[in-house]
Amino acid sequence: METNTSNTEKVQKNFLEEIIENDLQSGKVQAIQTRFPPEPNGYLHIGHAKSICINFGLAKKYGGKTNLRFDDTNPVKEDTEYVDSIKEDIHWLGFDWAEEHYASDYFEQLYDWACELIKKGLAYVDDQTNEQIRENRGTVQSPGKNSPFRDRSVEENLRLFEEMRQGKYQDGEKTLRAKIDMAHPNMNMRDPIMYRIIHASHHRTGDKWCIYPMYDYAHGESDSIENITHSICTLEFDIHRPLYDWFIKSLEIYPSHQYEFARLNITNTVMSKRKLLQLVKDGYVSGWDDPRMPTICGFRRRGYTPESIRKFCEDIGVAKRDNLIDYSRLENALRDDLNKKADRVMAVLHPVKLIIDNYPADQTEQLEAVNNPEDESRGKRKISFSNTLYIEQDDFMENAPKKYFRMTVGQEVRLRYAYIVRCTGCEKDEVGNVTAVHCEYDPLTRGGDTPDGRKIKGTIHWVDANNCIDAKVNVFDRLFNTEKPDEVEEGKTFLDNLNPDSLTVLQGCKLEKSLQNVKPLDKFQFERVGYFSVDYDSATDNLIFNRTATLKDSWAKQK
Ligand code: ATP
Ligand code: MG
Repeated sequence: METNTSNTEKVQKNFLEEIIENDLQSGKVQAIQTRFPPEPNGYLHIGHAKSICINFGLAKKYGGKTNLRFDDTNPVKEDTEYVDSIKEDIHWLGFDWAEEHYASDYFEQLYDWACELIKKGLAYVDDQTNEQIRENRGTVQSPGKNSPFRDRSVEENLRLFEEMRQGKYQDGEKTLRAKIDMAHPNMNMRDPIMYRIIHASHHRTGDKWCIYPMYDYAHGESDSIENITHSICTLEFDIHRPLYDWFIKSLEIYPSHQYEFARLNITNTVMSKRKLLQLVKDGYVSGWDDPRMPTICGFRRRGYTPESIRKFCEDIGVAKRDNLIDYSRLENALRDDLNKKADRVMAVLHPVKLIIDNYPADQTEQLEAVNNPEDESRGKRKISFSNTLYIEQDDFMENAPKKYFRMTVGQEVRLRYAYIVRCTGCEKDEVGNVTAVHCEYDPLTRGGDTPDGRKIKGTIHWVDANNCIDAKVNVFDRLFNTEKPDEVEEGKTFLDNLNPDSLTVLQGCKLEKSLQNVKPLDKFQFERVGYFSVDYDSATDNLIFNRTATLKDSWAKQK
């Protein structure tokens, strides 16, 4: 696990910044041009946020530009729903692209370049089945076997490739392959497939094409078309770099360069779109934006701010080696941000009545409360107080241990912003559950001060039972029980690591009246409880809050 990010490390330039500064100084590039290249086959997750922050962040820092390019070369899995969500999420994170492109816009150019490679004797049509191709690739220890179709003439290759495009062949009947070296130590260089036949409608090009370029061919060439100076991707692509370079060199086109950084992994979560899709499709979560999902839209719905996600990405830095980041670092970035921004309010999630026996039954007071001690400009508000309040069940204990400073018979406690009260007893139902707590207040302690200076150790929050509103509160826990849910024993899958208690729905929570007219995504700190955000499905007569995070890292203690 990665833990050390000392301040000195943070000021230091990361390796990408060093490369870029060198390239600018040496005149290798005049201005930098990056791109963010998502495949529109799912919603963006926090790993993508990292890539977005790097690509857009570097361009911004060095006065360059970033394109958004949809890497839409696989019609079977892609959809405009994903395209729209990706754009929304990038904007929400606070970035804007210079140009919007689609790899599918380059299909004609890519086709022409493929013909050029055929003419140069650097590509050929192969009739082998996928299985044969796989078998003949050899292994890391042993060289592969040349395809029997490897030495077709240029004319024949051009004709067959053209026929592939025209739809003369079935899926899998033929492929176009680069002619490199079947004994190459890098398996990616053993005559990699450039095109395969897929008779499927594409979300943008419809039925115009039935041959689609492979990632390795389409990606670098798209970079080159857009004059991308620094093509930044994740570490697993480093063994693809020789092929990336081979295509560009063979075609003699703009020499984009690929650089790799370590992908972001976070504890207790999975990050592959395939797995996230499975969680959605099979109903393990309510959708891509389920607040337990590591998707950007999930974090948004949960109450995360774009600033906190950007800060998190900045804090964890850019690494060259794979690492696992603790989920709590994301939560800490969130707490830092919301501590400054979120108004404090009082809400009781597990209510029990507190009756103040010596307070006039027909009286109500309006007490003053500070909205945000971190931000004076947020001002103050009035909260109502009467003889019957709600407090948290666990703020009362009948037989309390010595260090319990909250409600227990005979002990004084401060009611936040209100008075000091002394607990006198409780009522119980026939099975022994506490149904009400009784106390008496000291009228001289309005606002919570003691005129005689006596010390009151505990302060608890409350809500006026005669003047409050009800809400449903979703309390989330980690979606997975294990730090690395992808690591499973044989016969098990990541689904076996799902946390069955990742969602607890609390009904009948009691909130102060000031929360009556909140709107989705409004964020608050419920004093002593945590940070909460209003859910999309919330309405004035049916308030729903999502717990974004606890006030402190409660997970760390459990470990
Ligand atoms: P997944 O494996 O989740 O499907 P992907 O790499 O296939 O992800 P793309 O849409 O191709 O998803 O990714 C777009 C960009 O985001 C790529 O440049 C990719 O390297 C980067 N990216 C994806 N996952 C991460 C991650 N966990 N950390 C950092 N960057 C990532
Ligand atoms: Mg990908």
